[in-house]
Amino acid sequence: MLDTISHNLQDLKNHSGKIVITTHYKPDGDAMGSSLGLYHYLKEAGIDSQVVTPTDYAEFLHWLPGNDTVIVYEEEKQRSQKLLEEASYIFCLDFNALGRINEMGEKVAESAAKKIMIDHHQAPQDFDDERFVEIGASSTCELIYKYIQQHLDSSFMTKDMGECIYTGLITDTGSFRYGSTTSSTIRTAADLMDIGVVPATIYNSLFDQNRLERIQLLGYYLANKIELVEDGKVAVSHLTVEELKRYNVITGDTEGFVNYGLGIKGVELSVLIIDREYLVKMSFRSTDVFPCNEFSAEFFDGGGHKNAAGGASHDTLGNTISKFKKSIKTYTKYL
Ligand code: 5GP
Ligand code: MN
Repeated sequence: MLDTISHNLQDLKNHSGKIVITTHYKPDGDAMGSSLGLYHYLKEAGIDSQVVTPTDYAEFLHWLPGNDTVIVYEEEKQRSQKLLEEASYIFCLDFNALGRINEMGEKVAESAAKKIMIDHHQAPQDFDDERFVEIGASSTCELIYKYIQQHLDSSFMTKDMGECIYTGLITDTGSFRYGSTTSSTIRTAADLMDIGVVPATIYNSLFDQNRLERIQLLGYYLANKIELVEDGKVAVSHLTVEELKRYNVITGDTEGFVNYGLGIKGVELSVLIIDREYLVKMSFRSTDVFPCNEFSAEFFDGGGHKNAAGGASHDTLGNTISKFKKSIKTYTKYL
């Protein structure tokens, strides 16, 4: 644990500027859960804050309490920039490199605010003033809970906060099934239940509210798009622009697809390569020793965790798939 937090709740109350909470582009459940969870906590403690995300995010997260208060930087640049200029504190949640918040990164770097990093990814960059970082922790949400317990005051935790934090716990651990799940993760979940969170309700809101088209895309993907290479140890899949259009794909629709490859016996690495037109986005998932983050950093300008990472390519979809198949041959010692 890297804990250099030197402020307390009084400091967050007694300052002259704004408190901005931000997270990585295309925020996922942990990113939005931690951001809105902290927002609700501060609100209950009588402290105003504002969540600003670099981009929009999946519809399946729009039910989160406080969603309607979020500002999207891309959509409201001037307002967001003014907030960043006036901020005394900027909380940077679920990311550790300014490149992960697109052009907002420059504005955060320029701001005179104290930057507080709360995150669980490897190799944090040095842009923060204080940090609460545990590499390999289940989720940023678990760390927000610990940060509040250890540095603020637990008595301002609310059910709304709990629902947000619980969301990050389950989205980043695949509903408590990945290796990053610890007894502390489960204890955090239990504590959240004690303040009113109902797991079945959260699960239903997150995973059982799909559009029919998304379920049909999943069926098509599973039936047609997974190829096994490297003696059945690697599952390679991709989606083309035409396929995304055919199923009216919107942000978040392909979330979780890459995990299905890992459900095949013998598969240790699964990759999903999606042609997003402006760039080819890649998701990597592994079960064991295969270091997805190192592989992605070396070949696809990416990063993340050992067992879950992402990357991108500016080449064509076909060339990216070929490059992946060639690159994987240099990593067979991990397979
Ligand atoms: P996903 O495959 O769900 O997009 O991302 C999996 C994990 O890798 C997440 O923890 C995410 O933060 C990280 N990640 C995804 N894309 C990138 C990227 O382009 N660069 C870096 N450094 N991390 C990424
Ligand atoms: Mn996370």
